[in-house]
Amino acid sequence: MDQKIALVTGGNRGIGAVICKKLALNKYFVYINCRNRNNTQDLFDEIYRLGGNADILEFDVTDLYQIENAFKSFAHSRLDLLVNNAGILKDNLIYQIKDLDWEKIIQTNFFGALAVYKVFHPKLLASDLATVINIGSISGIKPRKGQLAYAVSKSMLIEWTKLKSKNHNDRIHYFSLSPGPVSTDLIKDSPWHKDLQSLQRIPLGRYAEVEEVAEMVLFLCSPTNPLRNGSNVIFDGGFIQTVKEA
Ligand code: NDP
Repeated sequence: MDQKIALVTGGNRGIGAVICKKLALNKYFVYINCRNRNNTQDLFDEIYRLGGNADILEFDVTDLYQIENAFKSFAHSRLDLLVNNAGILKDNLIYQIKDLDWEKIIQTNFFGALAVYKVFHPKLLASDLATVINIGSISGIKPRKGQLAYAVSKSMLIEWTKLKSKNHNDRIHYFSLSPGPVSTDLIKDSPWHKDLQSLQRIPLGRYAEVEEVAEMVLFLCSPTNPLRNGSNVIFDGGFIQTVKEA
């Protein structure tokens, strides 16, 4: 199989880092996006130790100038897979969410993904068949208490993904992948994560593993994926099908 080229935003830790590793071990050359390359060197070294290929692409997804500079240093003529994974969460009760937090969350989770997509679009078009995977969240479908800004940002991303997939002139497949809770730094301080009862509301009885989310990314970008372009794939152990809420 020819080597494919991928870019994963927020690839230095959490779900993004495991996606980078998974892709690199499955014949992808992976551009690991991060805001600070010093945080990413260990992952980069590990990928090479395991026989994969990667490079580090430093930019903040909310800074168009940095994204454009990263585009200039992108060494490949095409991009086969873009995973918009970078994201932030600032849980709070609705009336307490500060305007600045609203702005940061929407800028990062929605406009950040769009900006990276727009700058790298010419490289995606240079691929025979490119895939864009936007990491959504079940909060974008069924928000929980105190998650308004995060939920809005993720629902915007999910809807944008569906709309983009309807442009048949664009030779790109678009998916959103919406996990339920996954144990990473993102959620470790959220109130419901500390609540020992929270697992009982997940029919599967546990959180999803980062490795499982990465496996799903690999499946979505496979040429044999039978799912329809534009799908939002919910990956939550049955959580949002349940009636009881936090
Ligand atoms: P983490 O907090 O562990 O990692 C977030 C990643 O995003 C980090 O690499 C971080 O970089 C990066 N990032 C944040 N802001 C920016 C920015 N402005 N520019 C570039 N990179 C940025 O989170 P997860 O791994 O858990 O989350 C990954 C994605 O999955 C997110 O989109 C999240 O919303 C989504 N998700 C997570 C769930 C969960 O339960 N964990 C559930 C559903 C969805 P840095 O190290 O510099 O901060």
